[in-house]
Amino acid sequence: MDVAVAERQLAMAQSMFQQGHFPEAVNYASKAMDLAEDLEADRDRCPKCHAETRPRWLLCPKCGQPCAEPPPFRPPAGGSSRKCHRDGGV
Ligand SMILES: [Zn+2]
Repeated sequence: MDVAVAERQLAMAQSMFQQGHFPEAVNYASKAMDLAEDLEADRDRCPKCHAETRPRWLLCPKCGQPCAEPPPFRPPAGGSSRKCHRDGGV
């Protein structure tokens, strides 16, 4: 779900209002509201117990489920490439 889509609907509603196209304005505004409701429902929730969480929270306060994706592990970029060389294997 994209916030920009809802914003566009709102902008359309506004411009329709300004042009006096009220039915269209209401139409766009209600679309924006639907999108906003979707966004609300889609907001950060615990994947396990669906408690509401905040983006910065790492753990669900209710069940302790990790909310945030752990940052991808990046091996330190170094020049030393350690190779596992096994050569006398007879
Ligand atoms: Zn939870």
